[in-house]
Amino acid sequence: MLDYHVHLFSHDEHAIDERVSVAYLAQLCRIATKRNVAEIAITEHLFRFSQAKPFFTEIVNNISDKSQREFMHEYYNFHATLDLDHYIETLQNAKKVNLPLIIGLEMDFLPNQMDTLEDFLSSYPFDIVLGSVHFIRGHMFDVLDSPLQMGIWEKEGTEKVFSDYLEVLQALIDAEVCDVLAHIDLVKVAGRKLSERGFSDFESEIIKMLLKKQSTYLIKDILLEESSLSNRLELSGGSENGHSDMVVEFSSAGLRKPAEDTYPNKSLLAQLYSFGVGITFASDAHEPMSIAYRFPNLKSIAREVGYSHIRRFLDRKSYSVDIDEGAR
Ligand SMILES: [Zn+2]
Ligand SMILES: [Zn+2]
Repeated sequence: MLDYHVHLFSHDEHAIDERVSVAYLAQLCRIATKRNVAEIAITEHLFRFSQAKPFFTEIVNNISDKSQREFMHEYYNFHATLDLDHYIETLQNAKKVNLPLIIGLEMDFLPNQMDTLEDFLSSYPFDIVLGSVHFIRGHMFDVLDSPLQMGIWEKEGTEKVFSDYLEVLQALIDAEVCDVLAHIDLVKVAGRKLSERGFSDFESEIIKMLLKKQSTYLIKDILLEESSLSNRLELSGGSENGHSDMVVEFSSAGLRKPAEDTYPNKSLLAQLYSFGVGITFASDAHEPMSIAYRFPNLKSIAREVGYSHIRRFLDRKSYSVDIDEGAR
């Protein structure tokens, strides 16, 4: 197994460069190994890095509500304390001494800035970039302990928040800047629920978005390599080496939240499988003890719906490996 979503700091912690050390990474890898995880991806939030601050200043400046603007201004000021060069260099050094990790990042969808972000990201040697939707119009719907942020649910209503989430997710997918879609149905985090019918429509929308993207890749691949459509369809099931279609993470983080569910849930995962969408495993650990959180559960659900392989990443290309192996 591979845990491809691991943070170095908890949400409310002030991040410091000293923590980003080979010794600390070795400690995380030891925990992972004990839990049968062959490799982890360190995926710190983009907004933790001082070099990325201008992106978030732009987001904050565009928030119309004054108290929300002040909240987000303070939030990003508090968090943007790490040096990205130090982070990259330390992770590279960790790889040199054979720690089983890859260099990652978790980015947010940033309206009107995705081209600049793409250039920014391509100037660093990342192995994997996760893409997330954490906020809608500068408003975070997943900060459960902030009444101001949670107010979005009362103000907009559950249906509207879910449909706005889908809109942002679509924009994230269309931008093609990330390699993996993280916690694809995160909007259920707070435990607010749509009707059964509404939720199944929500899932169908996600599938439609992915299929549209998946078929674009297939067509591009066919044109590029002139291989037959049936071959490509077979390959998109996860046996090709080094391709770059959209991958979705299967995360246990929602099991620790009011959602009390995996991201995505089993029914959406089953649909992803039937359409040949590749997956990674993710704990979204923000503290060492959450690495590989409930991975045996993830594994049995993934196997149950049909998955026998997961994706491994290197240099922003993905490869298929057996769920259980995944070792170097
Ligand atoms: Zn996230
Ligand atoms: Zn995360």
